[in-house]
Amino acid sequence: MKHFDYEEEFHSRDRKQFRKERKIAQKTDRSKFKKTDLEVKSEETAHHLQRGRVISITGEGAFVDFGEKTVLCSLKGLMKKEMGQVKNLLAVGDWVRCNDDGAIEQVEERISVLGRTDISGRKEQLIAVNVDQVIITVSVVNPPLKPALVDRYLIAAEKGRIHPIIAINKIDLLENGDEEEKTFYSEFLAAYEPLGVPIISLSSEKQIGLDALRSLLQHKTSVFSGQSGVGKSSLLNAIFGFELKVGELAVKTAKGSHTTTSAELIPLPGGGYCVDTPGIRSFGIWDLSKSEVISHFTDFARFSKKCKYPDCMHLNEPECAVQKALEKGTLHPHRYASYITLLEEAASGSKPTTWS
Ligand code: GDP
Ligand code: ZN
Repeated sequence: MKHFDYEEEFHSRDRKQFRKERKIAQKTDRSKFKKTDLEVKSEETAHHLQRGRVISITGEGAFVDFGEKTVLCSLKGLMKKEMGQVKNLLAVGDWVRCNDDGAIEQVEERISVLGRTDISGRKEQLIAVNVDQVIITVSVVNPPLKPALVDRYLIAAEKGRIHPIIAINKIDLLENGDEEEKTFYSEFLAAYEPLGVPIISLSSEKQIGLDALRSLLQHKTSVFSGQSGVGKSSLLNAIFGFELKVGELAVKTAKGSHTTTSAELIPLPGGGYCVDTPGIRSFGIWDLSKSEVISHFTDFARFSKKCKYPDCMHLNEPECAVQKALEKGTLHPHRYASYITLLEEAASGSKPTTWS
């Protein structure tokens, strides 16, 4: 099934519009003279620019919140040439300045970004920007826990200056689950707790852990991200009484619906914001280096100090203390497997890995 990408659609329409406007401008602008700096400046100040925040992006434009009102704004004032290696010019959470015609003219510098490698592997796709924390949402049993995906998010969060929180949903499924699932879950906790990242176990269905998550979200801007079907929308609905669409069906019949296919910044009752993102099929870290992978695995440090070579990569080197710890069981196999996956990914130019 081809995934319908609203952002793709948005930008291709925007390109067409841009070309059309340029043509008209070329026809009507008969001035052969370059404007002086002074003229340009006075034109800028004559423009009344209003500051607002991008809350969602659709095929028609970007919805910008100006406080007292939300306006559908166009991107036609933005300079395409500034895009460089970024796939999307604008992302949910951006602070922008719009003119009286509802065209976005400026995008403010971003405090933080959650990005990933786009499907072509050549550009960075911004998921959300100017957020305080990312709620790395995973589930047990269905879909099963994927430690390497969690590590990808942890690295992306660190690179993007975002505080990570790991939310494990659907723990009610462990009650009747087999022993293997239960062991995998407790091993995951044992392997990831030493990293010092907050981990919350939840069930939106059985109302477990919801108060703890609510208090972490209050007065912050959080982005919920994770594989499709882990229960991001269900959690937000259970905590805040929202009515976000739940279940696979919403994704499959997404043609008419924006809510499940593009991210949206939602104000939270009691203060704060959250971004509900569309379910991801893949998550590749943009511009990942081997040294970033090595420095992410801080829990290896207590072993790697004893490796024979100071630059040991813990692969096939002799007298590698990390490999020894793995054999002895003092280093968790989850952690080592994730390390190898990410090292390979860094070596291959961080091509996205498909998860479902
Ligand atoms: P999203 O794609 O991450 O937003 O996930 P949804 O919120 O749409 O949920 C996907 C499916 O998981 C739905 O069928 C939900 O009913 C189910 N689900 C969500 N939370 C839980 C939970 O805590 N326990 C169980 N057993 N199922 C859940
Ligand atoms: Zn080593």
